[in-house]
Amino acid sequence: MVSMLFINATILISFLALTSQIFKDVKIGSNLKLSVKIAFGVLNGTCGCILMFYTIPISNKTLMDLRIITLIISAIYCGFISVLSTSVMLAIFRIGYFGINESSVIAVINLFVLSLFFSLVFKLKINVRKKWIIMNILNLTTASMIFLILIKDFNKLLLVLINYWFASILVSIIVFCVLQYISKTNELYRKLKIESTEDFLTGLINVREFDRLLNRSIKEAIEKNEDLSILLIDIDFFKKVNDTYGHAVGDMVLKDLAYILKQSCRSFDIVSRNGGEEFTIILLDCDSNHSYKIAEKVRINIEKHCFKLPNGEKLNITVSIGVSSYPDKVKDINNILKIADDALYLAKRNGRNRVVLQ
Ligand code: GH3
Ligand code: MG
Ligand code: MG
Repeated sequence: MVSMLFINATILISFLALTSQIFKDVKIGSNLKLSVKIAFGVLNGTCGCILMFYTIPISNKTLMDLRIITLIISAIYCGFISVLSTSVMLAIFRIGYFGINESSVIAVINLFVLSLFFSLVFKLKINVRKKWIIMNILNLTTASMIFLILIKDFNKLLLVLINYWFASILVSIIVFCVLQYISKTNELYRKLKIESTEDFLTGLINVREFDRLLNRSIKEAIEKNEDLSILLIDIDFFKKVNDTYGHAVGDMVLKDLAYILKQSCRSFDIVSRNGGEEFTIILLDCDSNHSYKIAEKVRINIEKHCFKLPNGEKLNITVSIGVSSYPDKVKDINNILKIADDALYLAKRNGRNRVVLQ
């Protein structure tokens, strides 16, 4: 019994590792696409079918397997659709492979009854640990009732129940711990993935991602023989905003400004915050004339915008913008950022709130 228990736990853990890799980019939950819910259910169903080959002997003529745990995994993370996919797979396999007899009919009925209960438990507003416990209690209850119906000898029934409860609870605890660990690491992975490319304050692309995308854009511009322009945007006298209204208001202005920048250019342009109060827009396939017009539009949109402060006051700010454009103005594309920086410096030196194209 112990070796089969070990094999069952190992199969379950292997599948969990596989599932966690396949679904590592999605936050498993009820608001997933239908296809993802079905795929999650089918994968768990596959694991359940494999477990049926490794039944655990719990008395002379009684065998058990841990397929219901795969049903619980589907139910606990994705709800009805996943649990239904898993139970349909398990039912088809149970009848198709082992044939129709009294125990397979009871097993299939048990599967669908549990699926229904598990879907209801999924809806409860309680944490995963409590849901897991309730689902396991439901499973142990229905399984015990089945044994009660099928086994007439009291001593044998007692032995079966003790072994079944022991095996189910033990493996269930192990699987739950592994699941918790996987959920946590996948959540951290997704968080890190976002944080490595996104600016936490504005939600724009951060400087690391900007570097990567600029290099890619340069490569593509050369390969496709296309124009490429860059706007380097710096808020004028931003320090004064912080000094007068505080850092929190400064942050609010940065967030609103990010939104205006996004609205002022084309959907496929790359807008990033490169640190502090400095922003960049990479204009793909955009010549110097067009990029100058976009820069002016950005500048005017910001100048006209009234930033509403928490105390009800209104604040106006301006920006200076340096523009560089390949190949109209910049001959060596690798200098495009440096030349935009020079243009920004000139815009500041010539009085701010202006666009300088180089
Ligand atoms: P200039 O017109 O020459 O650009 O003047 P400036 O005051 O904007 O330039 P400076 O570089 O001297 O100051 C930039 C200020 O931006 C300094 C700092 O207080 C502020 N800043 C940088 N990062 C943040 C941030 O994340 N949040 C807030 N609220 N302020 C920031
Ligand atoms: Mg600055
Ligand atoms: Mg500034």
